[in-house]
Amino acid sequence: MEINSREFRNKEITVTYNPVLCCLSGICAKELSSVFRNSVIPWVDIDGATNEKIMSQVKKCPSGALQCFRNKKKVA
Ligand code: SF4
Repeated sequence: MEINSREFRNKEITVTYNPVLCCLSGICAKELSSVFRNSVIPWVDIDGATNEKIMSQVKKCPSGALQCFRNKKKVA
């Protein structure tokens, strides 16, 4: 589920995007186009691949514009 245009969350992970840092390498869209989509809003489909694939792809972002973390579990 999209929280806002720069934060994308499902039940287990959150991906954040900082457009100021993005160097437009296109690596994310080329390598995992089911999640990082051109010309589609929202451009990140957080349910477009497994969490593991998404986290692996985010690690390849050369600029650090994409970040990913596991959601904290609610305590009581
Ligand atoms: S991989 Fe990172 S730097 Fe490259 S287009 Fe995607 S978000 Fe931007």
